[in-house]
Amino acid sequence: MNDTERATHDWNEKASGHDCPFERTDSAALENFHLVAPLSASTLYLERNQCYRGYCVLIYKRRHVARVDQLTADEWLELAGDLHRAHSAIWQACAPEHMNVASLGNVVPHLHWHLIPRYVNDPRWGNPIWPTSVSDMPRVTLAEEEYREIADRIRAALTG
Ligand SMILES: [Zn+2]
Repeated sequence: MNDTERATHDWNEKASGHDCPFERTDSAALENFHLVAPLSASTLYLERNQCYRGYCVLIYKRRHVARVDQLTADEWLELAGDLHRAHSAIWQACAPEHMNVASLGNVVPHLHWHLIPRYVNDPRWGNPIWPTSVSDMPRVTLAEEEYREIADRIRAALTG
């Protein structure tokens, strides 16, 4: 196996739920959270690091899935309802100026959302909380026909 094949293999193992830290009750990952409440399809936790007051994580609890597209439409609606409820409650409880909602899953690929209240005096106001600058992103542009080709494939998948 070369490095790319090994990385792909390791990722596929993790993404399929092998040794998933969000499904172990003794998990160090869960020690980083303080339980707020179980919701319909998910559980809401306060992040231990309260640099952003009210920062919560909402973890899908019905089964292991890594991505939104692995949910049925009904499962997605149920989770979206939880997300809306949690977002509204944090907004009401913490009165921030703005909210960031992010689902990344790069470290723990079990579907979860970061709900991050943002305040004008917070350390990264005007930027994502994760300190990587947009200007650090390598810029890649395509030929016009390549944009068209990718858009066509997505469009076909939307209607297909
Ligand atoms: Zn999992």
